[in-house]
Amino acid sequence: MKYKIESDDPLAEKKYSPVRGIIKKYSDRVIFCPTYTCPSRCDFCFRKNMVNGKNGKLSKDEMAAAIDYIKKDKTIREVILSGGDPLFLPPKILSDILKRLSAIPHIKLLRVHTRIPVTLPSRITKKMAAILRRATPLWIIIHINHPKEITPQFKKAVAIFTTAGIPLLSQSVLLRGINDDVDTLKKLFYSLVDLAIKPYYLHQCDPARGTKKYWVPIKKGKKIMRQLRKKISGICLPTYVQDSPHRGKTRQQPAR
Ligand code: SF4
Repeated sequence: MKYKIESDDPLAEKKYSPVRGIIKKYSDRVIFCPTYTCPSRCDFCFRKNMVNGKNGKLSKDEMAAAIDYIKKDKTIREVILSGGDPLFLPPKILSDILKRLSAIPHIKLLRVHTRIPVTLPSRITKKMAAILRRATPLWIIIHINHPKEITPQFKKAVAIFTTAGIPLLSQSVLLRGINDDVDTLKKLFYSLVDLAIKPYYLHQCDPARGTKKYWVPIKKGKKIMRQLRKKISGICLPTYVQDSPHRGKTRQQPAR
């Protein structure tokens, strides 16, 4: 799908939000944003219109309504915690949310999407890892885009998670002029696997307002993936995907 225009809601999340903080697009899982606060302000963020705004935090009532929604819908087996950044929540609130979600019998899996190991690694502590470890099977998906983001502080934060036995995946955004070349991505994916993080998704940049300068043509993205496939092992290779407002993720198979 070729983008034409930038949008304040590029993935039509408003339409799929039955209560604040919940986005229900898929049959067996739900996105839950317990906060819209974040220590960062990425220029390419597809929720930049909502993140760190006036109503960044969910009120107690909004939080209760979101968890109640998950409780009532027994078709949901997986909760994807996103935001903002869920790991930017105060530990007590994070712990409370995870306890409440883990107590729901039909919830079998929790996923935490975070960029904190990159943007604020000092926030990752053994105490936080213990809170995450106590929850229902939980996976962490780290958003990281460039090998330069793999700093000693990042490595230390990741080691806290791996020592606690928390499985780690990564997701990256393909960004024009930043990482849209084979060598940069190869270095990134190798370095992640070295740290026991499986590269999971490489995202086409979503058409949020102000992001046109980062868009990479799909054709070029597929070419990069084809070249990467020849050079690196399958375990180092993420799936190249594009999110669409109404169909969820579309896999972009590299051209042969
Ligand atoms: S870290 Fe994530 S939520 Fe925060 S501004 Fe960047 S992309 Fe958006």
